[in-house]
Amino acid sequence: LGFKQCRKIGGSQIRSLLRAKDVFLFDCDGVLWNGEAAVTGAPKVLRTLLKHGKHVFFVTNNCTKLRENYAKKFSRLGFTGVRPEQIFSSSYCSALYLRDVARVQGQVFVIGGEGVRNELRQAGIPVVGDEDEAPDATIFHCGLASDVRAVLVGHDDKFTFLKLAKASCYLRNPECLFLATDADPWHPLPGERILPGSGCLSAALEVASGRKAMVIGKPSPFMFECISSQFSVDPAQCLMVGDRLETDMLFGSNCGLDTMLTLTGISHMKTAQEYKDCDHPANHSFVPDYVVDTIADFLPAFEE
Ligand code: PLP
Ligand code: CA
Repeated sequence: LGFKQCRKIGGSQIRSLLRAKDVFLFDCDGVLWNGEAAVTGAPKVLRTLLKHGKHVFFVTNNCTKLRENYAKKFSRLGFTGVRPEQIFSSSYCSALYLRDVARVQGQVFVIGGEGVRNELRQAGIPVVGDEDEAPDATIFHCGLASDVRAVLVGHDDKFTFLKLAKASCYLRNPECLFLATDADPWHPLPGERILPGSGCLSAALEVASGRKAMVIGKPSPFMFECISSQFSVDPAQCLMVGDRLETDMLFGSNCGLDTMLTLTGISHMKTAQEYKDCDHPANHSFVPDYVVDTIADFLPAFEE
């Protein structure tokens, strides 16, 4: 069944693939840009796909911005004509899950930045966080709300021991849901530095609570369910393009989509090949169908 081939493609193979697919799902960081620098040619790729009537969606584990603000990043980096409705972020999808699937009654305790909080608020979900806590508050003397029905953990550059402690207390209640926007371990920064990701924070809370977080973002197929509940998309018509094997390629596999690894981000061809050659079948879900150096390799396919 659909064995992933990890095939490096170019020229005419890219051309026929782009003709065959109607819907393109793009991961953002590592595919369209790296931090604040657009991948060379990527804005033109997007423009060209849209000009040819392709449907384009963005699936990002970045939970730190409201979709509107993420759309501003697109235009700042030269990607024109992207509407917030095309952007499916891990914070927006978390809000949809809490509102439409879990239908939480009561408040949600959030570990995460303003982006996460505001997506929830926009969905009408009451949020409790640490913003109004006294600076010297400790878990021995702090307020705990009595109606917290879910804990949501995302990237939080103001993460504190107190937030971890409060969240662990809320999760003592087995009825309280435990969600993570995403479980990304780290993100690359310029100059060989890394940014620890949401996954570090949810891991800390998993240990303290003895529970496992339910992950909303990639590789969970929930993000694709969010897209297909709002737009008519046939999985067979979709291509998922990403740079991280353990999130993007697994996400595509989990959703039954053809997958493409682009080498402008985190994962290398060698690792994809190792997953392919590995005997353990679970690793085959990390293997892409196709590999390109950069999505800019799409451009010649549209030239006559
Ligand atoms: N989360 C945070 C906080 C990030 O900074 C990034 C990348 O910069 C991501 C997630 C990953 O985003 P994507 O899924 O678009 O690669
Ligand atoms: Ca990425």
